[in-house]
Amino acid sequence: MLKIEKMNVYYNHIHAVQDVNLNVKKGEIVSIIGANGAGKSSLVKAIMHLVKFNASLFKLDEIDLLKGNADKLVSLGMALVPEGRQVFPDLSVEDNLEMGAYTVKKRELVKEKMKEMFLLFPRLEERKKQKAGTLSGGEQQLLAMARALMSSPKLLLLDEPSMGLAPIMVQEVFKIIKKINENGTTILLIEQNASMALNIADYGYVLESGRLVKEGKAQELLNDYDLKKSYLGG
Ligand code: ATP
Repeated sequence: MLKIEKMNVYYNHIHAVQDVNLNVKKGEIVSIIGANGAGKSSLVKAIMHLVKFNASLFKLDEIDLLKGNADKLVSLGMALVPEGRQVFPDLSVEDNLEMGAYTVKKRELVKEKMKEMFLLFPRLEERKKQKAGTLSGGEQQLLAMARALMSSPKLLLLDEPSMGLAPIMVQEVFKIIKKINENGTTILLIEQNASMALNIADYGYVLESGRLVKEGKAQELLNDYDLKKSYLGG
């Protein structure tokens, strides 16, 4: 579904993403794990065309994203749940969801989608009139996910969804990611919480200092001796 070759991101003299090759197959959960400052956010932002990058190949299915399709990423089926949620704090839960559906022209479809989101996230339905800024961190994460799903993406990118959440909420967020995937959305998950991210994934990549240093089936990475020592706390 998503194929990238030799992606690079520079910030002046900092080479934040270095010759990254990525392949995300339809239906999978693919996790990219890495420590603080490894370049995870830079990579996601580059994939969403939010920072300058270069690449030798960048395709979403058969669509060439190096050839002027950057402004249509959401219409083409990509959506991002950004790091730190970035919900609109002064808008209600409902209005935040509406914002996620800005590419959806038909009112009926927006309403239908919202119903679907409230089924998937009952906590949000209970709080639909509440201002997003007054939700707990975990609820804001759920809202950011629901907002991204409003455009019915085929590929959902999540940038560190577990960041700053209590362990119980982290579990809930990961359960929902799994469910979203089971409902048919392909997932690219960027995470510092390596064991959680690999546990729900089909395939994984390890990013270190801007480079992908390891990749493989998620189960194999979970059993990898070096990764256990440096990322998996054992
Ligand atoms: P974290 O988990 O701490 O968010 P990360 O893996 O997402 O880290 P990035 O935020 O992508 O890492 O940062 C990678 C490198 O690029 C870091 O050295 C960072 O200081 C640098 N960097 C990121 N954004 C910018 C920017 N806008 N200007 C200059 N340097 C930047």
